[in-house]
Amino acid sequence: MQTLSSYLCGAWQTGQGTPQTLENAVNGQAVAEVSSQGLDLAAAVSYAREVGGPALRAMTFAERGQALKALSAAIYEVREELIDLAALNGGCTRGDAKFDIDGATGTLAAYAHFAKSMGDKSYLLDGEGLQLGRTARFWGQHVRVPRRGVAVHINAFNFPAWGMMEKAACALLAGVPVIEKPATATALVAWRIAQVVVQAGILPEGAFQFLCGSAGDLLDHLGAQDCVAFTGSARTGEVIRGNANLVKHNVRVNIEADSINAAVLAPDVDESSETYGLFLSNVVTDMTQKSGQKCTAVRRIFVPEERAEQVAQDLAQELGRIKVGDPNDRENRMGPVAHSGQRKDVASGLARLAEVAKPITGGLADHPLGGCYVAPTLFLASDGNAQVLHELEVFGPVATVIPYAGSAQSAADGVVRGGGGLVTSVYSNDAAWTEHYVLEVAPWHGRVWIGSDRMAEQSLAPGMVLPGLIHGGPGRAGGGEELGAARGLEFYTQRVALQGFQGFLQGHFGA
Ligand code: NAP
Repeated sequence: MQTLSSYLCGAWQTGQGTPQTLENAVNGQAVAEVSSQGLDLAAAVSYAREVGGPALRAMTFAERGQALKALSAAIYEVREELIDLAALNGGCTRGDAKFDIDGATGTLAAYAHFAKSMGDKSYLLDGEGLQLGRTARFWGQHVRVPRRGVAVHINAFNFPAWGMMEKAACALLAGVPVIEKPATATALVAWRIAQVVVQAGILPEGAFQFLCGSAGDLLDHLGAQDCVAFTGSARTGEVIRGNANLVKHNVRVNIEADSINAAVLAPDVDESSETYGLFLSNVVTDMTQKSGQKCTAVRRIFVPEERAEQVAQDLAQELGRIKVGDPNDRENRMGPVAHSGQRKDVASGLARLAEVAKPITGGLADHPLGGCYVAPTLFLASDGNAQVLHELEVFGPVATVIPYAGSAQSAADGVVRGGGGLVTSVYSNDAAWTEHYVLEVAPWHGRVWIGSDRMAEQSLAPGMVLPGLIHGGPGRAGGGEELGAARGLEFYTQRVALQGFQGFLQGHFGA
């Protein structure tokens, strides 16, 4: 069996003690093992600060952008191998694996592109300069400079490739070295990518380290110039945010947690419209892609009450077309959930939803192939008041149709009961209704996706995170923010206001 190692302080290292086992979701067999016990994580933090940081900061934004482009190409070269590994450890169909892996290479390439406009300086201008004195001689200008610490990235199991590289792209471009920690259960893909990154020799030594296995005492070694970007469950996010060392040193923490994302069908959209087709196809995609293990997956589907039963039946019909089975068979659109623990969690979530909503299709019926399969599952709630509908993330191909009264306000009131989300989608051709809805839900979301006949033909589903737009959301969603082109670098840089003689600031800082 493969033993996965960590790349720390310039060497591949293996931990001691009893290892954790990674499984194949199709048949439950062990595919690899890993341990991080005994690894010197304090040394890794120092190595990043003392070796990786200075080397990265000696490069310009343009040069770091070139490095990201080369990394994207190096990972793309092993794309087919990574697709196979994602099926072996994660149960991903080819389509689901590509979504993750191409997301990683695509985001690296996008940040290489954004770097072109950042120039060959070691800082970024932030906004316009400002006259501070009687005349323009006394001037003010904000700039952003790379922080002198290490970026620790802790990722979730569902996006081992994209999750790691979208964070790394922003930090590395900003000039900050990274320690990447994938979720252990699906670490095989991330481990192979780490090998490629190290072997490619594109990044300066110390810029990229990889911790495979549990995080151990890593967070206890961080200080004021370091940062932690975490993606995972709300529960773990809470633990990380409360880490005493992080609190003591005011270490920057970004939390990307879970979210009970909603899709809303407005009353004006009838069955014959293009927007209704878009609604059905997007909801089905966002429920079933990655077997519903997407932080942006649709969990709640708000439908005007008099149409809820019919829309649920239409969705059930579409879900019935999704062929579930062995992810290695290209005919299958959906594979199992990622591992047996995950299937157990889904089972308990389904039981809780069944207490407040009636099953329309799907459920946990054992798949003839065994393994961790869950059929696409839809519930219909008789009323939307049960709080469990707005609180419980069942991390699988599972959603509930929730009836609402039909006004934009009533839809928004239901949606914001989720307590803060990554994305919400709305389907309407009624501009006034939509504007009211958008303004009500916007403070509670990172993205609001607006579907209509006018854009139906060109759109990407709401669940897709794009490097040019922010990803994250308030409240329940973690309160964090990532990506968004140059905005993604803010977390890794220090904004500082420079005040002085305008001639000096213009000459030396382009202010
Ligand atoms: P998880 O159990 O919270 O684990 C996430 C990561 O945290 C893993 O790498 C895990 O390591 C690590 N971890 C656990 N306890 C820790 C601790 N005390 N200190 C430091 N690190 C710790 O989440 P998951 O099951 O992997 O992922 C699924 C969840 O992530 C879902 O709720 C989903 O909604 C959310 N998610 C959110 C986003 C987003 O962008 N908002 C994206 C993807 C997923 P080990 O694996 O070694 O335990």
